[in-house]
Amino acid sequence: MKEPQTKILVGGCQCGAVRYRAEGQPRKIHYCHCRMCQRAVGNMFAAFVPMRQDQVTWEGPLSLFRSSSVAQRGFCKSCGTPLSFAYDKSAWICLSLGSLDEPTAVRPEFHYGVENQMPWLHFADNLPRERTNEAELSGLISYQYNP
Ligand SMILES: [Zn+2]
Ligand SMILES: [Zn+2]
Repeated sequence: MKEPQTKILVGGCQCGAVRYRAEGQPRKIHYCHCRMCQRAVGNMFAAFVPMRQDQVTWEGPLSLFRSSSVAQRGFCKSCGTPLSFAYDKSAWICLSLGSLDEPTAVRPEFHYGVENQMPWLHFADNLPRERTNEAELSGLISYQYNP
């Protein structure tokens, strides 16, 4: 059983041009191993801290890339740090865990998109592992460059 925990999460990009402050209860903190997240963060997986959109305040110019017909990804145009991911119709926005000033203040609860997890990457955790929900993505048009 988990207690609801209100947190104040502060963070931003590498150069400091974009900052955010979020106050509320993060929900479903997770690793995402999907191909789009890999490409978006230029790494093996993304780690996200979902917060309610209305609980997040941005300072500075958050740039957006429409990665698909249903979602946008926020980043800093000056330094390139990936900062957010949000479905257009969701009340939630995922903040990139590594952009937090204190990333150890939160802890991932599960792995998502594990069908694309790097085969040589192993986690010594017992967290639940979920495949990408294909039904959820039906009708999605990807705008990601796929050679
Ligand atoms: Zn920056
Ligand atoms: Zn993903």
